Amino acid sequence: MISKLSIRDLEDVTYRGRVVFVRVDFNVPIKDGRITDDTRIRAALPTINYLRERGARLVLASHLGRPKGKVVPELSLKPVAERLSELLGIDVKFASDCVGEEVDRMKEELRDGDILVLENLRFHAEEKKNDPEFARALANGIDIYVNDAFGTAHRAHASTYGMAVHFDIRLAGLLMAREIEALSKVRENPDKPFVVVLGGAKVADKIEIIQNLMPKAEKFLIGGGMAYTFLKALGHKIGNSLLDEEHLNLVKGFMDESPDKFLLPIDHIATDKLEGGEVKELSERDIPDGWMGVDIGPKTIGLYRKALPEKGTIFWNGPMGVFEIEQFSRGTVEVAKAIAQVTQKGAYSVTGGGDTVSAIHKAGLKNSDFSHVSTGGGATLEFLAGKELPAIAVLSDKN
Ligand code: AMP
Repeated sequence: MISKLSIRDLEDVTYRGRVVFVRVDFNVPIKDGRITDDTRIRAALPTINYLRERGARLVLASHLGRPKGKVVPELSLKPVAERLSELLGIDVKFASDCVGEEVDRMKEELRDGDILVLENLRFHAEEKKNDPEFARALANGIDIYVNDAFGTAHRAHASTYGMAVHFDIRLAGLLMAREIEALSKVRENPDKPFVVVLGGAKVADKIEIIQNLMPKAEKFLIGGGMAYTFLKALGHKIGNSLLDEEHLNLVKGFMDESPDKFLLPIDHIATDKLEGGEVKELSERDIPDGWMGVDIGPKTIGLYRKALPEKGTIFWNGPMGVFEIEQFSRGTVEVAKAIAQVTQKGAYSVTGGGDTVSAIHKAGLKNSDFSHVSTGGGATLEFLAGKELPAIAVLSDKN
């Protein structure tokens, strides 16, 4: 098990009067200068409050969108600083850059409990390049380094990796610590039976997860667009459904190796055109020419529901169909509800990935209906694929 030092592991007095840098994930959706969803800002509050209550002087840094190393005014973090002010009921300071003399002066002027939000890290191309000079500039005037941005943990950038090595102690924030704990449990020590539910469009993203979890998982329930590559590998007709030709042999190999581990759709919702086409329920596995499978059918929903354990562990990533379109969302919604139900009965459920989170909300469920909802997309997938995430590796070990 990886075990990293978190902000809770140091004594409270450690933080008083110290300038604490926290790499947060404030990558929120912004439209016309307004934040349309502040979940990520709220998610950072426990770490921010914990440190403020102990007298830390906080410097918060994040990226927002893809400015590609240039100043893009629409991607400024200023509205985020303003929202944070509202949420905390205090005056949050904002620096119009993330490095430089002016920023250093603002860091020096901070008092206990103050918060300074830096401008978008990715306005500098050096952030993604993990440029050593830039990393050193970020570390200027900082006493303690904290990373609470799990979503970027699979990237070795200046703020997530390069600057960390300037500090003897590198701490996980509360959100990061929770991610590491929940995902490590799934990856390394899942209670049995362990069932993995995978959907979505891209097979390639999930290949390494299957490889890594194969020895530990009892069952893989496969849905979404990726299921058709699996059905094709078994020799079924899939019509115009999504197919990943490149990974067909690999997928065939998985099923040859452990034929009983994979549950595949036994019926489908299909259409002849994604938008405005005819829609029908197909009560068998094969899909006729001219049709594409866009959701799992009712029999499959029943089959997958039964396969979910009431005790044990479940990991779920990816929708069971084109859930953005109401008509094709039933499979995803029902599987989400079924996972929430077994969670209530005692199963440990972890879900993650951007689409999965919106599917949960579409099903009318809350994050608290699952044991853990990961904030990562790519980071979550890489973690479960067994990879070392640089921004986690660089954090101090617990002992
Ligand atoms: P991914 O990023 O691989 O998790 O894929 C998520 C996307 O897969 C969503 O936008 C879904 O609309 C899409 N998807 C799910 N099921 C299907 C399907 N049967 N055919 C095409 N796309 C699908």
